[in-house]
Amino acid sequence: MSDIDIEAFRAEVRQFLADTLTPDLLSAAALGFGISRKAGTAWHQALYKKGWIAPDWPVEQGGTGWTSRQQHVFSEELALAGAPMLMPFGLGMVGPVIYTFGTPEQQAKHLPGILDGSVWWCQGYSEPGSGSDLASLKTSAVRDGDHYVVNGQKIWTTNAHKADWIFALVRTDTDCKPQQGISFLLIDMKSPGLEVKPIVSIDGMHHLNEVYFTDVRVPVENRIGEENKGWTYAKFLLGHERTGIAGVARSKRAVAALKDISKNESDSSGGQLADSSDFMARLAAAEIKLDALEQAEARVVAQIEAGGHAGAAASMLKILGTEIQQDLQTLRVEAVAHYALPFDLALIRGESNEPPPGPDYAVSAVADLNFGRAASIYGGSNEIQRNVIAKAVLGL
Ligand SMILES: Cc1cc2nc3c(=O)[nH]c(=O)nc-3n(C[C@H](O)[C@H](O)[C@H](O)COP(=O)(O)OP(=O)(O)OC[C@H]3O[C@@H](n4cnc5c(N)ncnc54)[C@H](O)[C@@H]3O)c2cc1C
Repeated sequence: MSDIDIEAFRAEVRQFLADTLTPDLLSAAALGFGISRKAGTAWHQALYKKGWIAPDWPVEQGGTGWTSRQQHVFSEELALAGAPMLMPFGLGMVGPVIYTFGTPEQQAKHLPGILDGSVWWCQGYSEPGSGSDLASLKTSAVRDGDHYVVNGQKIWTTNAHKADWIFALVRTDTDCKPQQGISFLLIDMKSPGLEVKPIVSIDGMHHLNEVYFTDVRVPVENRIGEENKGWTYAKFLLGHERTGIAGVARSKRAVAALKDISKNESDSSGGQLADSSDFMARLAAAEIKLDALEQAEARVVAQIEAGGHAGAAASMLKILGTEIQQDLQTLRVEAVAHYALPFDLALIRGESNEPPPGPDYAVSAVADLNFGRAASIYGGSNEIQRNVIAKAVLGL
């Protein structure tokens, strides 16, 4: 596709966003993972009706047939416009696993609900003690006729309390290397013996959970692929999870917002923040890093377009992208100064009718800074990404 076509495509996406992103959707977007199921589904269905819900799925499964570059432009425009995030667990994670490794029955049962947004999923990988070292997971699934009986605990399960189904890694064999005794199960959240307990995170929001399994009976037909081959499907899924975490467009939006904020706020000497050489130099440094990241990401997109893979570059993009996000969150807290101090949960959660004590952009500055620490942990912590680079690039 030529540059002119790409710009025409970009204009089409922008027009759609301008027509579709209502003020309600834009304010719901500020809640990130904390978005309500109602608002999340409304946005999902707007994209579904347009035929744009699953750009990276194969066309025969409901994909758009766009090039990697078009997909990149599309997600860039969504982020620049401040669109709500789409929950990744169905579309970006278990969906590709099901259409790649699932049976025709599993595909017929689950893919339509993932595509139209009527069924929400959550990811049951991590356990207490098994995060980075995921293969050590202990939740067991013991065969009993045509069922597995599942016992154990998952943790940090994002939006488990809003989900209809969980895809879970379970141990089906202990008498082998850890990776060789894992299976991949699809489990109905309404199953007797399955219990969800909330974890309220440092931003005051409830999007994380513990999920307990006590003698939960799961039909064998809900297993993806072969028994004890779950690690293969789990790794395939993680490859999907890590793309896009760099969040370049979201950070570009944050830089633009900070430039505006700097014109409204003052520095410690009472002058305009936009004239503070210290603050503006740090903002410029973050922007320069972001420009470099954008170029690096464009190279990776071109590589994928030419039939290659992101490889270890995905780890580099994740590290740099999350570091920049955290730098920008720090700058926002500094910029709003004392307006960052009130930590009003009702305002942060969008549940208050009272006006905030300061500007709107100050309301969630501290909550975002605090929760933003998570970005260098989930999707494989940044230390683990550095290990990947050390091994795959530096050969250490
Ligand atoms: C906001 C949030 C949402 C999440 N959502 C989900 C979800 O929906 N589903 C799900 O299954 N999981 C989820 N997770 C869990 C996430 O995948 C894990 O937190 C992550 O894999 C790290 O595991 P851990 O917390 O057990 O930390 P650990 O693995 O115990 O790591 C602790 C520290 O040690 C470092 N470390 C560990 N091993 C090494 C090593 N080999 N080399 C160098 N440093 C190392 C880590 O980098 C980290 O700094 C979520 C986490 C967060 C924070």
